[in-house]
Amino acid sequence: MSNQIKIAIDIDGVLRNFHMGFHKVLVSLGRYPAYKEPPAITEWVLRNFYNISAEEFYYIVFNSHHTGVIFRDAPMYNGARDFINSLCDEYQVGVITSQTHRSAYPTLEWLAHHDITRPSIHILRFDLGEKDKTQFGYDILLDDKPSNVQQFLDAGLGGVLYDQPWNQEADMFRVDTYSEFQNFIDDLGPNPSYPGI
Ligand SMILES: [Mg+2]
Repeated sequence: MSNQIKIAIDIDGVLRNFHMGFHKVLVSLGRYPAYKEPPAITEWVLRNFYNISAEEFYYIVFNSHHTGVIFRDAPMYNGARDFINSLCDEYQVGVITSQTHRSAYPTLEWLAHHDITRPSIHILRFDLGEKDKTQFGYDILLDDKPSNVQQFLDAGLGGVLYDQPWNQEADMFRVDTYSEFQNFIDDLGPNPSYPGI
């Protein structure tokens, strides 16, 4: 470990294609036509693209027998494992994800299934009201959710938004690709000043 910077990486929307896991289950339930292309998700509220209520979304995704299928079977984004392994070669790395009592364990299985074995793992239970991703002592977070990035910035830490079609509204420092993030980290000096602080 040549560098003591501690890097936190979000899972859903950064490493795991949660949207596709959700989409496949909605198709299997007959709630979205199998012959149609998946919708282009251009806003944060995914359920708007499937015409389901907030209550039903929460039930299907986080508190039903579909939960395990969604979170275990969602594909890994191309290059995600190599990205994590490459970061782990140089830095202290943890994944921080926000899940419920039903989605936490399938998330651990997903990491194991995809052979993402090197980072520390932190799971916030948002069904218990836990939402502070800064509490684990990391210096910088890569996340697709603007409010999570903002938590780090507000704490005087580094926050980088992972560019996705559903977070285009946020005016924050962002990266498009894993290699762009890796280059950004590699270019930080020993006493970094982070953008946006
Ligand atoms: Mg996310």
